[in-house]
Amino acid sequence: MAVFTDEQKLKILTDLVAIQSVNDHENEVAHYLQRVFAAHNIQAKLVALSETRANLIAEIGTGHPVLGVSGHMDVVSPGDVTAWKSDPFTVTAHAGKLYGRGITDMKAGLAALVIAMIELHAAGKPTNGTIRLMATVGEEVGETGSEAFYEAGNMSDVDALLIGEPTGYHIFSAHKGSMDVRLTSQGKAAHSSMPELGQNAIDPLLSLLGQANEAFRKTDRVNAALGALTFNTTVFHGGNQVNSIPAEASAELNVRTIPEFDNATVTQVLQQLVTQVNEQGGHVTMDIYMSQSPVEEPKDNALSNLAAAIGASYAGAPIPKLALPAVTDASNLLKDKGHNYPFIVFGPGNETAHQVDEYVDQQMYLDFTELYQKLMTGYLEER
Ligand SMILES: [Zn+2]
Repeated sequence: MAVFTDEQKLKILTDLVAIQSVNDHENEVAHYLQRVFAAHNIQAKLVALSETRANLIAEIGTGHPVLGVSGHMDVVSPGDVTAWKSDPFTVTAHAGKLYGRGITDMKAGLAALVIAMIELHAAGKPTNGTIRLMATVGEEVGETGSEAFYEAGNMSDVDALLIGEPTGYHIFSAHKGSMDVRLTSQGKAAHSSMPELGQNAIDPLLSLLGQANEAFRKTDRVNAALGALTFNTTVFHGGNQVNSIPAEASAELNVRTIPEFDNATVTQVLQQLVTQVNEQGGHVTMDIYMSQSPVEEPKDNALSNLAAAIGASYAGAPIPKLALPAVTDASNLLKDKGHNYPFIVFGPGNETAHQVDEYVDQQMYLDFTELYQKLMTGYLEER
């Protein structure tokens, strides 16, 4: 017997959107969900990461296998609220669509996961294995929530992972990694008429970046689903006066990695180039201040096949398996899992994430509250 009516399911989503968790204040979302779980005899635990931020973890069932499910509690800023047709933090229904900031990305997915777990628990399920929800803070900026779950070992016994990010009736099972790198070059200032008295900080950096472009762009390493690695210098600063030899220069790079050319390999190649210019008299240092790994699961595994089969009955059409352009919490959660691990991104929503007038289709949201129940128990029962 269902625990919630459609109205109650919509009320939970409306309440979540009303909490303005714009990459902070996830505390309030976590407390709200903890109360919803508690009202249905599931004890969820909060893990505080700061005064205003807490991850939430909740489990139903016992033992193995363990299916991990995850969603983030933060949303991006609504931007110019006057550009919205309705208040971004008040869910507004129109023609079968529900409008609000973060409703597609991803409070609908998060609410559907929570509702599915509560309804399963009330029905005495799962009878085989455990479903563990890891609701994260800071997915949109910094990925600190998923990092904390990984560090605490909450992923170590998890056998498969479902992330409820908005895909609609598509399944995503791969995405690139991402790295942010800062290179700083030190030289010595001098008058440009007497450059021998100084040392130009721009020269070694330019030469390094030229060689890096060659090394990363002229490679035949390509991933069938993700394509090639991308490498770009996105920020460059150097010098401050036309007749002075520059004493300092810096560059920032963004690299989108693939399993065939992963973060460790990129680090190694960059380090070699830095060592090389320094051996030729440069003074360049490197700081990799963000590094998230690429994720790819085998195209055919029990989790994605089951999701495709169940999803197709709701979509009324076959469900394609694709590669996601953006990074998710999976980069942190799957750090140790290798590239043969069952993982999918599958959740209610559409491409209006981060946009003005973000919406979710009401029926799709309600369908996912059921679909997730079939997927969760189906996956565990087949193990
Ligand atoms: Zn998201």
